[in-house]
Amino acid sequence: MNQDLITDGFGRRFPYLRLSVTDICNFRCSYCLPDGYKKSGCEPFLSHEEILRMVRAFAGLGVWKIRLTGGEPTVRPDFVDIARSVSEIPGIKKLAFTTNGYRLPERAQEYFNVGLRAINVSIDSLRPDQFRKITGHDRLGEVLEGVQAAFDAGFESVKINTVLLKGLNDDELDRFIDFVADKPLSLRFIELMRTRDNQEYFQTHHLPGEAVTEKLLSRGWHVLPRKEGAGPAVEFEHKNSIGKIGLIAPYSKDFCKTCNRLRVSAKGALHLCLFGEGGYSLRDFLQSDDQTEEFQDKIMQLMNFKRSSHFLHQGDSGTTPHLASIGG
Ligand code: SAM
Ligand code: SF4
Repeated sequence: MNQDLITDGFGRRFPYLRLSVTDICNFRCSYCLPDGYKKSGCEPFLSHEEILRMVRAFAGLGVWKIRLTGGEPTVRPDFVDIARSVSEIPGIKKLAFTTNGYRLPERAQEYFNVGLRAINVSIDSLRPDQFRKITGHDRLGEVLEGVQAAFDAGFESVKINTVLLKGLNDDELDRFIDFVADKPLSLRFIELMRTRDNQEYFQTHHLPGEAVTEKLLSRGWHVLPRKEGAGPAVEFEHKNSIGKIGLIAPYSKDFCKTCNRLRVSAKGALHLCLFGEGGYSLRDFLQSDDQTEEFQDKIMQLMNFKRSSHFLHQGDSGTTPHLASIGG
């Protein structure tokens, strides 16, 4: 079986898998699940066993970085068991997860102990009232404590994800930049992405990433050279700031050229692009331990369908209802 990194027809390599373990979320972010999680269909989420078969097979194709995501991955009752077993799979060198920070202060140490080493915490406002307005939860204090707890637990990489929202947090750019000055973390501003369910919200609140670039450059920040194999974030640093700032701008030119990730939904569908037309179900290839090769052949075959770019500029944002359905 092919042990090389998965590649596509455009010479891109895919060492990184974002694996959604649940669609369920306990928050109601206004751009993602404004009315909260609603069950769709009756197919169950991938079982612990199916997840392990999948990760073993991907590891055999050279995937070494896994991010567990969701919905909110930590609401899954067997989340820590899944993390522990995934971290033990030979070839998996980095296990990360993305979380809204719910109950992170008391759980960070356990997450670290089961093998998670990189954490991305979503924080869209540093003002408690605005945080509540955006997420539906009055939990900014808890989430910030959680970030500290992640440092204390020993996480190698702590990142903050902040979705740029015109009229909701664009007056906080300076505050976010100052926030990282004395912390060894990277805060990533993410341009709001249009999905099937947030068209009107997108029109009102989308703010192009240039607003961040201009602000950073005017404050003496500069762009770091891109590291070999790095993903699509542009990183900035400043000599007086320990923390770094990143910008993820899917609407910018060339964003897709550095794509290095594949996504699998909580129900086992491979998504070749965040903005694609649904996914390719892999579930049938995860039903027994002797299907590894069959699964790997399927992946290599599906890679032929990966397009060079998304078609957001042509107004095609795909059929993804919201990013909770494929993990962002
Ligand atoms: N629930 C977890 C969380 O919020 O961190 C993990 C899943 S969430 C879908 C992953 C990331 O996607 C979060 O940082 C979230 O802010 C971001 N996100 C969700 N919908 C988005 C959208 N329409 N545009 C840009 N980012 C989005
Ligand atoms: Fe939940 Fe994350 Fe979506 Fe917010 S962004 S509603 S926390 S899945």
